Amino acid sequence: MTSQPILRLRNVVKTFGSFTALPGVNLDIEEGEFFTIVGPSGSGKSTLIRLLVGMDEVTEGEIWLRDRRIDQTPANQRPTCMVFQSLALFPHMSVGQNVEFPLKLRKVPAEKRRDRALELLDLLRLPQSYYSKRISQCSGGERQRVALARALAFDPEILFFDEPLSALDYRLRKTLEKELKDLHSRTGKTFVYITHSLEEAMVMSDRIAIMNKGHFEQIAVADEIYGRPVNRFVAEFMGEVNLFDVTGTDGGGLSGAGLESHMNGHAETCGVAMAPGATGTLMVRPEYVRFLASSDTADFTLRGILHGEYALGSRIQYEVETLGGQVITVEKLREDRVDRQPGAEVVLGFDGDHVHLIRGQ
Ligand code: ATP
Repeated sequence: MTSQPILRLRNVVKTFGSFTALPGVNLDIEEGEFFTIVGPSGSGKSTLIRLLVGMDEVTEGEIWLRDRRIDQTPANQRPTCMVFQSLALFPHMSVGQNVEFPLKLRKVPAEKRRDRALELLDLLRLPQSYYSKRISQCSGGERQRVALARALAFDPEILFFDEPLSALDYRLRKTLEKELKDLHSRTGKTFVYITHSLEEAMVMSDRIAIMNKGHFEQIAVADEIYGRPVNRFVAEFMGEVNLFDVTGTDGGGLSGAGLESHMNGHAETCGVAMAPGATGTLMVRPEYVRFLASSDTADFTLRGILHGEYALGSRIQYEVETLGGQVITVEKLREDRVDRQPGAEVVLGFDGDHVHLIRGQ
C-alpha cells in the first residue's frame, strides 16, 4: 500500500428531498485494499456506492481518485467498475462475448480481445472451452466468475461490488468468498465491497467500515472491530456478545450486573480499570465464557440458571439467565460440550484478557 489513498471522500452529503441519507461522509481507501462497508438494511451502503461509481450525484462534498476530483465525472468516464448482485450479464451472448464487451467498446481488435478474454477466463479459473458457452448454460457460480472477468476486462482502477454473493446458496457463497479474496491478491486491484453479511466481510477484507444511519461507526481491521468495538452498536452488530453495565469501584475495579470481579490489581493491564463512579459497558464474546467447577477461578464470575442449549453445527450455544434477569450466551465447541441439564444452577467465569470495556456507555 502507498501513503496516498486511491479514493478520498470529503464531507459527502446525499439528500433525497427532505431526507438526508448521508449527512457528511469522510473516508480514505488505500491503494490495493480490500475494503468492505457493512451495515444494516437502510444504513446507506447502496446510496454511497452509487455515488462512488457515478450512478447518482452527490448533493455536497468531494470525491477524489488520487489527484483527480471525480464527483462530477459521468459514470462511463470514471476508471472504476461495479459488479452487481444481478450481474447484468447479456444472456443471449456467449461467455466470451460478455467478457470481451468492454474491449469491443474500446475498439480493441478481435484477435486481441479474444486473447485477453481467454486470459481472464484463466484468471477466474474457468476452462477455455467456456469461451463459446452461452450464459444460459452456466451455473450461478460460473456466471459470477464471468461477471468478474468482464469487470476486470475494463481494467478498472477500483472494482466496486454491490452484494454480489447475496443471491447464492451458502456453499457457493463460501467458495466464492475465498475466490474473491484470492482474486484480489492475484490482481492487486483495489476492491470496495458492500454487504449485509459480517461473516463475508470478515473472511475477505483488509479493513471493514461499519455503517449506521448514513455514517461510519468504526473503520478498522476485522479483529479490532470484533474484539474492540467503539460502542454497543458495533459490538452487537459484530455477532453474539454479552454486555454488562458496570460502574468503577473504589479499588480501581468494577462492579454491576451481578458480576463479581476478582481482578486483584491487574485491571490496569487488561485495560478495564475505571475511576470510582465512572460508568461503562463491559463486553465479553460468548466463546470466552466458561462454566466453572467449584475449584475453578476466573477474573469475573457470575451465577445463573442454565436455560437452553442449541446446536449450531460444530458449536453449541448455551443460554444462562443471571439472578438479575440478564441472559448470557456461552459458546463451546461441540467436543467441549458441558454436562449440565437445563434448570441447573451454574457459575460462569471469564478473564480480564478477553474482555473489552466501552467507556462512558
Ligand atoms: P440495503 O442493505 O437494504 O440495500 P442500504 O444500506 O444499501 O440498504 P440505502 O439503499 O443506501 O441503504 O438507503 C439508505 C436510506 O436512503 C434508506 O432510508 C432509503 O429509504 C433511502 N433512499 C435510498 N434511495 C432513495 C431514493 N431514491 N429516494 C428516497 N430515499 C432513498
